[in-house]
Amino acid sequence: MKNSIQFLDIKAAFEKGFKNNGFFRRGDELFLIDLSGENFAGMRDKGFFEGVSQVHCIITHTHGDHVGGIGDLALYSFFTMAPGFSKKLKVYAPTPILDDVKNLLRIFGTNDMHSDVIGLDLRKATNIGGVEFEPFLVEHVEWLKCFAFEIRFEDNFIYYSGDSNMIPEVVVEKQLKGEYTEFYQDTCIADYPGNVHLHLNLLEGLIPDGSRDNVFVMHLDNGFPLDKAGKLGFKLPKLSGMDY
Ligand SMILES: [Zn+2]
Repeated sequence: MKNSIQFLDIKAAFEKGFKNNGFFRRGDELFLIDLSGENFAGMRDKGFFEGVSQVHCIITHTHGDHVGGIGDLALYSFFTMAPGFSKKLKVYAPTPILDDVKNLLRIFGTNDMHSDVIGLDLRKATNIGGVEFEPFLVEHVEWLKCFAFEIRFEDNFIYYSGDSNMIPEVVVEKQLKGEYTEFYQDTCIADYPGNVHLHLNLLEGLIPDGSRDNVFVMHLDNGFPLDKAGKLGFKLPKLSGMDY
């Protein structure tokens, strides 16, 4: 099973190393799903911004491991990516968190010279550089709105959970009907009241054996049992060095 969404790593917020930020490239356009500070630096050092004319950064929610790098990206894309001193970044946020994302970019010392910030309507597909993104409100932290996305391009129809302790019913139904080509789910092994991520046992209950071939677990916490997840039939996304 291919994974069209690439990752430097698939670790949870407090783990050492790269964070769970997805990305893919089409031609000279780079699509980022969130960007932490670590991943901004990693993608820069690994050359992922080279030859890119347009960066699209789609935000799921405003936890630091998902937005900590967007200010650096706005400035780096403007000043350092060729051609210098030109705007190359568009940041997209579901409308309920659009003002928060705008404020973050302002607080990080950037303005509309460095990036455009665009709202995405919920449950409506928006075409971004030939790729459709449709946000779904999901449950993560009670006081923070978080969004999953359906992503469509060419023959791909992808579900990307963002950070969430649930899967919307309509999404489960589509997965059971085999509609998605790839399915990426925030999954954890830590179990505590008010868990903000989806426990592996719950994922096992929601997605029956036989519908797991295209389900990639991600955002994995310390001690996550990779063997057990594999034996249940779930997949791990292959991590990217530099394969384009
Ligand atoms: Zn989060």
